Amino acid sequence: MKALSIRGLKKTYKGGHEALKGIDLDVEEGDFFALLGPNGAGKSTTIGIISSLVNKSSGTVNVFGYDLDTQLVDLKRQIGLVPQEFNFNQFETVQQIVVNQAGYYGVPRELAKQRAEKYLKQLSLWDKRDSPARMLSGGMKRRLMIARALLHEPKLLILDEPTAGVDIELRRSMWDYLETINKQGITIILTTHYLEEAETLCRNIAIIDQGTIIENTSIKRLLATL
Ligand code: ADP
Ligand code: ADP
Repeated sequence: MKALSIRGLKKTYKGGHEALKGIDLDVEEGDFFALLGPNGAGKSTTIGIISSLVNKSSGTVNVFGYDLDTQLVDLKRQIGLVPQEFNFNQFETVQQIVVNQAGYYGVPRELAKQRAEKYLKQLSLWDKRDSPARMLSGGMKRRLMIARALLHEPKLLILDEPTAGVDIELRRSMWDYLETINKQGITIILTTHYLEEAETLCRNIAIIDQGTIIENTSIKRLLATL
């Protein structure tokens, strides 16, 4: 089964900037996939479209067989998104932020509380559950967004530059965590501009530059050509 299938995806922003020039992309279920490219290449635009935060100009997007145009509600249930910017309410507590996510996905309140405890423990945030999010360090906020994204137990986790601004020690523990949940069956797509991050974690990779996919291969094959 394909976790993601994109065909001919184009995006022109208001003002005329062509951010995506017709990209094709396939990610298999269970994969750990990197979308690698320099700043401005179109990575955030791509994942913004997949998670329906950005409107596409043309092309098709399928997630686990659900079409973005005609099956949006089902498609959204498949996806957990960890955006680049901290987009939670800084005055809510850690636990509130995670549990409140249940409302978007129809997860019953009691189940949401159980899952919040499970994921906050896994991400070493349980001790901070009653702290307002604004009191957390940057790395903790990043992990909070991962816990929030997992609450409805999506099949596909998408992370936009998950370790940007995260120090090396914490980066390694985040990598370990992502590897663990990938082994448990969650398909992961991350964007990065570090080849090292893609190399360490991912099996397959697409390289995007100026709105075009210039390479789409396995990490092994890519490294063999360098
Ligand atoms: P990346 O995530 O690879 O850094 P983005 O997808 O954020 O790239 O951006 C791709 C291009 O689209 C960039 O040139 C960027 O300036 C432009 N862009 C992104 N968002 C907008 C927007 N809301 N309006 C206009 N242009 C945008
Ligand atoms: P506020 O305006 O109250 O500070 P936001 O409007 O940014 O907060 O977000 C309110 C809640 O909506 C967040 O706590 C979060 O749970 C949810 N939310 C915001 N953006 C997203 C997103 N991209 N994906 C899923 N949930 C989101």
